[in-house]
Amino acid sequence: MIPSVLPTYNRAPLTFVKGEGSWLIEADGRRFLDMGAGIAVNALGHAHPALVEALTEQAGKLWHTSNLYDIPQQQALADKLVAATFADTVFFTNSGTESCELAVKMARKYFHDKGQPDRTGIIAFEGAFHGRSHAAIAAAGSEKMVKGFGPLLPGFTQVAWGDHDGLHAAIDDTTAAILIEPVQGEGGIRPLPVQCLKGLRDLCDEKGILLVLDEVQCGMGRTGKLFAHEWAGVAPDIMMVAKGIGGGFPLGAVLATEEAASGMTAGTHGSTYGGNPLACAVGAAVMDIIADPGFLESVNAKAGRLRQGLEGLVSAHPGIFEEVRGVGLMLGLKCKVANTDVVSAAYDAELITVPAADNVVRLLPPLTLTDKDIAEALKRLDVAAEQIEGQKRT
Ligand SMILES: *Cc1c(COP(=O)(O)O)cnc(C)c1O
Repeated sequence: MIPSVLPTYNRAPLTFVKGEGSWLIEADGRRFLDMGAGIAVNALGHAHPALVEALTEQAGKLWHTSNLYDIPQQQALADKLVAATFADTVFFTNSGTESCELAVKMARKYFHDKGQPDRTGIIAFEGAFHGRSHAAIAAAGSEKMVKGFGPLLPGFTQVAWGDHDGLHAAIDDTTAAILIEPVQGEGGIRPLPVQCLKGLRDLCDEKGILLVLDEVQCGMGRTGKLFAHEWAGVAPDIMMVAKGIGGGFPLGAVLATEEAASGMTAGTHGSTYGGNPLACAVGAAVMDIIADPGFLESVNAKAGRLRQGLEGLVSAHPGIFEEVRGVGLMLGLKCKVANTDVVSAAYDAELITVPAADNVVRLLPPLTLTDKDIAEALKRLDVAAEQIEGQKRT
């Protein structure tokens, strides 16, 4: 019999009832160190006092009015994002998938309104993840994502990660945009080298196409900059955001330059919930903390310490781990044994990690994790590795 919850997930047998900072607590009191942060969502950990306050204060005043009226909380968050980034304008969504939908629509509308309606092509990359809508799965293009869901939305092509020649060959006069994650998340924590992102920007400028960055996972301080593309010193035309921006409250956004957004006039797009007062009250509190240069400095310092510890772990367990990869607190352990075995051994050690493609175990801790949390995470990963080594011996 089909479960009452549609069974599209293979869930781990864990049920958390409370969260405190970097910790998740089960009903029986077992405390798990959370190095997954709800897949890079709980950027400020669990039950951060500033977010609890922002949410409960707004909850007592007004939950929802719709986008038929001005929403001061939405205006305030948009102003903060515009002030802190390349963007001139922001549309709020409820998820990364919805941000992908709008990014694709915005790119196509831009060229339509410029009198180039044949420019509809979006070039994306193998191993990419942009969400689960039809545009997002067509962009990713992998069999795992699209099988059985055809006919697919046309206009998407995929280039192998790092294939410069393939990318050049894929561009023609129907290309509207290049869509890429500065650090692939689901694809296995694969950072795009800074030089490549600069090169992509130049290529887009040269060919007159839009650069769309998906910073749903790598944005909002995750890599030690507010947004990952800042490491390359270049800016996109359109950027997708979600996950960390709500700190656990469902919120996403599309940021764009005035030029790229020029086709999106009144009536061309909308959302009932997008940018609602509750979400934006929380988002503003998240922004106030994460956009602070001192906070980002602390992320970089902690990332350095975690990474150094992980390098040590790889040396100590050469049969289990191959390498550490990633940027900031978006780190991956490439495994030599099945990554899912490492994730479940970590569960046994009461540590939460997240598997990714390419046999990688992801570490996406709250950006607020403490040095004590880092030491504890390394200790528990060591225990997990030893457990697998013990099983291999017997
Ligand atoms: C999670 C994710 C998405 C999709 O976000 P949802 O909120 O799950 O719709 C899109 N792109 C990237 C890079 C992601 O990590």
